[in-house]
Amino acid sequence: MEFSWWLVLLAGFAGWCIGYEKMRYLLSRLWTPRRATDLATLLPDHDDRVERDPELIDLLDQYVVDETSVDVYLTLADAFRRRGEYSRAIGVHEHLLSAENLSDEQRRLVTLELSRDYGGAGLLDRVEALLKPLVSEHPEKADACSSLLRLYEKQQEWEEAIALAKDSQCMTDEDKAPLIAQYSCEVAALKEVEDKLEESEKWLKQALAHDAECSRALLMLGRQNIELKNFDKALEYFFRIEEHHPEYAPEIAESVFFALRENGDENAMSQHLAYLRKRKNSYTVVKLAREAISELEGEKSASEFFIEQIARRPSLKGLREWAERELATTKSRDKDKIEAVVAMLRDVVDEKPQYRCERCGYRCKQIQWRCPGCENWNSVKIIIGAEGE
Ligand SMILES: [Zn+2]
Repeated sequence: MEFSWWLVLLAGFAGWCIGYEKMRYLLSRLWTPRRATDLATLLPDHDDRVERDPELIDLLDQYVVDETSVDVYLTLADAFRRRGEYSRAIGVHEHLLSAENLSDEQRRLVTLELSRDYGGAGLLDRVEALLKPLVSEHPEKADACSSLLRLYEKQQEWEEAIALAKDSQCMTDEDKAPLIAQYSCEVAALKEVEDKLEESEKWLKQALAHDAECSRALLMLGRQNIELKNFDKALEYFFRIEEHHPEYAPEIAESVFFALRENGDENAMSQHLAYLRKRKNSYTVVKLAREAISELEGEKSASEFFIEQIARRPSLKGLREWAERELATTKSRDKDKIEAVVAMLRDVVDEKPQYRCERCGYRCKQIQWRCPGCENWNSVKIIIGAEGE
């Protein structure tokens, strides 16, 4: 056969092979389901997640680490981390840890710093891997414990956080109790979302076992008992909040009046109103008490209570409500001017945040048990005074 014919036959065979392979691939896509485990190949290799800087590593290798130079390295790494150059900070800290002549305390400090680099770079599994042994070897050192607690908080691993706070010696009992109570409330909140009310209640009671005055646990238990129509029990929890943390009165006021009405006990309602009359109340409490007084004793008595209370604790909200009521009954020719003032007051009041963090000043419109600004627990409080309640 001529050479050109061989070429034609060879090209035909190659085309048939390619077509066959393609067909086989398409058929395999159609008939064979792909394995999910194949997706694992997309995960980056453990060490690939930090981009190394070979120039920095070469440079560091030229210098030896000794006792006097540790601080220089730490300062250098700190400067990298402050600039957001986590991989370089990691490089410096890893170089330090590779030195054999570090003291135990220096090694502990460098490990702690390295965990901060990993945290900044978002490698949270590595933070945990570094901190866990550090805490078990040195439970008396508060810095590693609190770093690990912050990590658990970030990852919402509340039960791990509770176990660590209970076991470690990193906090005094006084500091530990309110924190464990908050972690228990977090678990309770998750159980509530899953509609596991009994488990949620169990966690809330554990919270109270650590901190009997935990407002969050008392509030959640009160609201759960309202759901279950156990109004007496609900009121017990709410009144405990009023007793220990009267600043939360505006937060619970609506639930308190709801439970009192649903209970249908006029005597209990009158007693509560008599208690409020003796006090200087927040705007929300005054507003709801006014409605209850109006139902029981009539509008005149309700209006007198309102004016007397608003004068005792003046606030923009109180002023707005007073102006709105005046506007509704006025026959003045200047009604349009009063309307303009009321509209202005409405705008000002609606835009005001309701809560402020006592530590960092973070403001928000809904209660936050852990401040999103400074990450402190229980530091966000209802704003009291002219601008708030
Ligand atoms: Zn804050």
